Amino acid sequence: MKYRSTRGGVEGISFSDAVMMGLASDGGLIVPESIPDVRSVLSQWSTLSYPELAAQVMQPFVDDIDPEVFEALVARSYAQFQHVDTAPLLPVGNVHVLELFHGPTLAFKDIALQFLGELFSHILAARGSELNILGATSGDTGSAAIAGVRGKPGIRIFIMFPEGRTSPIQERQMTTVLDDNVYNLSISGSFDDCQNLLKTVFSDLDFKERFSLGAVNSVNFARVLAQTVYYFWSWSRLGCPKAFDVTVPTGNFGNIFAGFLAKKMGLPLRKLVLATNQNDILARFFDSGVYQRGPVGFSNSPAMDIQVASNFERYLYYQLGEDSNACRAFMQNFQNDGQAVLVDRSGAFDWFSAGSVSDQQTIECLRSTWTESGYLADPHTAVGLHLASQHVDANIPMVCLATAHPAKFDSAVAQAVPSVSNSHPTLDRLEGQATRKVEIPGDPEALKAFIEAACQNAR
Ligand SMILES: *Cc1c(COP(=O)(O)O)cnc(C)c1O
Repeated sequence: MKYRSTRGGVEGISFSDAVMMGLASDGGLIVPESIPDVRSVLSQWSTLSYPELAAQVMQPFVDDIDPEVFEALVARSYAQFQHVDTAPLLPVGNVHVLELFHGPTLAFKDIALQFLGELFSHILAARGSELNILGATSGDTGSAAIAGVRGKPGIRIFIMFPEGRTSPIQERQMTTVLDDNVYNLSISGSFDDCQNLLKTVFSDLDFKERFSLGAVNSVNFARVLAQTVYYFWSWSRLGCPKAFDVTVPTGNFGNIFAGFLAKKMGLPLRKLVLATNQNDILARFFDSGVYQRGPVGFSNSPAMDIQVASNFERYLYYQLGEDSNACRAFMQNFQNDGQAVLVDRSGAFDWFSAGSVSDQQTIECLRSTWTESGYLADPHTAVGLHLASQHVDANIPMVCLATAHPAKFDSAVAQAVPSVSNSHPTLDRLEGQATRKVEIPGDPEALKAFIEAACQNAR
């Protein structure tokens, strides 16, 4: 499989080059040149374990890694998951919850970032090169990215977070990692300040090149690919039905784009129900065809407090008939005017149903799911469950993706169900452990100097 950019400026690159490129060099997103049709082999996949299935689903997209090596790499990616099923599917009321949070940091981002860490490691070793990952986090991504690459030779990771603005649990999940290749950078300022620092340093192309700077944000195609797997997995756990629906709590459109890709590959997935919190740009789009920026508000499902969905352009590209010029023009309009309109809403537009869920509805759903089914959801999952209950169809199974363990978001859970004990041994163990972080002024030159010094002094 070769890869190209949604905007037409990159073509014919290999899987490994696509992984290392992350964001396409023309500002677009990397997509495969074609989408494999797996319908003829689907029935053979129903008895595979999660890692076996993952290797099968992803293999057609990988053109430059030996199949046996790739299989072992995928097995390592899921070896640290704490559930025998990797991602168990449980009946809850009249839906099925697919728990994606049994990885090292208890959020679904581990599914993709454990894999990406193994991939980086393999590609860098094969090329004899090094990578310095620079990222900014307001919460879950930082710890999952760190967990994906800690201790890996040839990789250093620098994660910035706004001092005092992440939850104590989230900070501990990052700063208790003491591996030599992990640098937790506490920045005095907001998350936006961290993102601006990130942009400034990445825009210094000379510096970026000199220090082999890379990103781990959700636009990397490998992350989307790894997430495609659990749509196939939920179908196999359901007993291979002729049709099923999936509800996806989403912010960046990453998680739900993976479902779109699975459907294009031939999985008998009927509807994708897109669940957002009050930050509803995506819900408004699937209502009206108008993609219009709004203000970002703070909700009790903070990992989805996003207005501009970084993976949206991939869907747009397919909706526009794989026309790079049309895709570039749409994104240009959006950039200039803060809005753009999809004129032709036929075809895949109909695969989606969307809705926005308020904080209050989230808390109520969390509470009623607990009292009626004895299932404790985290607030992101509750956003999905609320919408799933409105879209569930009597004859078609509904899967709802659970994106984090409730103990990661204990204050929203306690608000909904004050009496419940909500903890997880992985998080309890972090309490009182040694931590390490470095305070860096919110200044790009100081950040660059820190990276340069870290690269020179092998610790
Ligand atoms: C990141 C995240 C999401 C949203 O995922 P997208 O890729 O933005 O769709 C939802 N829930 C949790 C817990 C997350 O960490």
